[in-house]
Amino acid sequence: MSETKIIDGKAVAAALKAEIRSKVARLQHSGPIPGLAVVLVGHDPASEIYVRSKIKQTTEVGLASIEHRLDSDVLQEDLLRLVEELNEDPAVHGILVQLPLPAHINSTEILLAIDPRKDVDGFHPINVGMIATQSGGIVPCTPLGSMKLIQSVRPDLAGLKAIIIGRSNIVGKPMAQLLLAQDCTVTLAHSKTRNLAEEIAASDIVVAAVGRPHCIRGEWIKPGAIVIDVGINRIVDEQGQRRIVGDVAFDEALGRAGAITPVPGGVGPMTIACLLSNTVDAFLRETCPD
Ligand code: NAD
Repeated sequence: MSETKIIDGKAVAAALKAEIRSKVARLQHSGPIPGLAVVLVGHDPASEIYVRSKIKQTTEVGLASIEHRLDSDVLQEDLLRLVEELNEDPAVHGILVQLPLPAHINSTEILLAIDPRKDVDGFHPINVGMIATQSGGIVPCTPLGSMKLIQSVRPDLAGLKAIIIGRSNIVGKPMAQLLLAQDCTVTLAHSKTRNLAEEIAASDIVVAAVGRPHCIRGEWIKPGAIVIDVGINRIVDEQGQRRIVGDVAFDEALGRAGAITPVPGGVGPMTIACLLSNTVDAFLRETCPD
């Protein structure tokens, strides 16, 4: 058994937020500051917790936080109108519409309405296309945070074999693009992939984004591999305690992986830090385009 480095996502996120805070403090001297607008529709408890945390961290780094809470029966056209107003608002540099939206709302139409320059979640097809063609674009926060964690332990990834398990638009697919852009040889695995264990055993980097507790077994991991666990799963453990665990059987992976992110305390804290960083970058592109 060799020692596995535990990648401390909280510490990396704190360092990134400290950098953002000092950038914003410098901007404050010279004029307007970046603003992040968050739109929350309805009262989904998980979304409420997430949005509260986003707003708290937005103000902690000195950004302006603009909050819009709408009833769950809001009409599609009223939500669209709000997005359009935020697109036009010079005090708003990032717009985040919290998902999931109620079933009667056409989420695709809402996300398409966001000005791609203010799309700090990186979900708009314009940004997706720009990332895919390596021509700039706003990178979705969770994959961006995951890349920063990988590169915190190994900056040069050229030639490494990477596997991502999960092909969602918000995590798996953009993650594949980012690793490809770093010259990795990328496998994007999903629920229909054959011989997943063998695919993982051949990989130097493993990113798990499935949403099934401990579905990636430790014995599948190549000795020395970097393992990034994006999964967030709420379970009741053998002692009857409610816990949050990842997709990777963490205890089994210890002593085998070269480095691994814990859950909680790994990718999670990076997601919001990257949202704040995307907002500052959107502001800088808007106010000083060169
Ligand atoms: P999703 O539910 O949209 O997609 C899951 C993916 O897993 C699918 O592509 C599916 O093909 C694949 N999959 C399902 N079963 C599989 C199996 N047995 N073998 C291989 N692949 C399988 O997922 P998502 O929205 O990308 O979220 C994935 C996980 O990441 C969830 O637990 C979610 O909560 C978490 N997440 C965490 C953060 C964060 O900030 N840490 C952000 C987003 C998502």
